Amino acid sequence: MKLLEERIRKDGIVKPGNILKVDSFLNHQMDVKLFREMGKEWKRLFKDEGINKILTIEASGIGIACVVAEEFDVPVVFAKKTQSLNIDGDVYSSKVVSFTKKKEYDIMVSKKYLSPEDRVLIIDDFLANGCAADGLSELIQESGATLVGIGIAIEKGFQTGGKNLREKGIHLESLAIVESMDDTTGEIVFREQ
Ligand code: 5GP
Repeated sequence: MKLLEERIRKDGIVKPGNILKVDSFLNHQMDVKLFREMGKEWKRLFKDEGINKILTIEASGIGIACVVAEEFDVPVVFAKKTQSLNIDGDVYSSKVVSFTKKKEYDIMVSKKYLSPEDRVLIIDDFLANGCAADGLSELIQESGATLVGIGIAIEKGFQTGGKNLREKGIHLESLAIVESMDDTTGEIVFREQ
């Protein structure tokens, strides 16, 4: 999506450790008008799929997912992160290793908000090694719902997440795929899509 690529080029900052900072428009300060255009693009890419629920993970996926949910006219559910292993029977849960914080934590969703008749689209801001996407997919599997696809704002194509998900046959739509980035020159190269 050209609009998103241009914005990443203009305002994205490449940090050491393969981190792309997009705090000024995506996951701290949020450009909701841009989110709306992203929502329209995912609506086009996932039309006729009978999606009736958007699933994301707190915190930075929530803003984007809300705008997407409005576009699809369906509810959005976010998986909560918890340090507590003391999980009662009323939730679906799985484990995620944070790419940015290098910590393992549990995520959970109440059983009230995912069920076998749900057709779910996962939305998140970044795809790196795919841990967050895998954790969310596990919650969907546990609930008996159907994973229709995954929409990612920025995929880092030089990390393994995207390749693994596509190899599993999952319908993955990343609006911008970073092929390479350089924290000394700040150069960002996108994959042609
Ligand atoms: P994964 O689970 O795919 O390894 O990493 C995805 C999660 O880590 C996303 O939910 C996002 O919050 C965070 N993340 C991964 N890479 C980056 C990055 O380069 N920049 C930012 N801001 N967050 C990232």
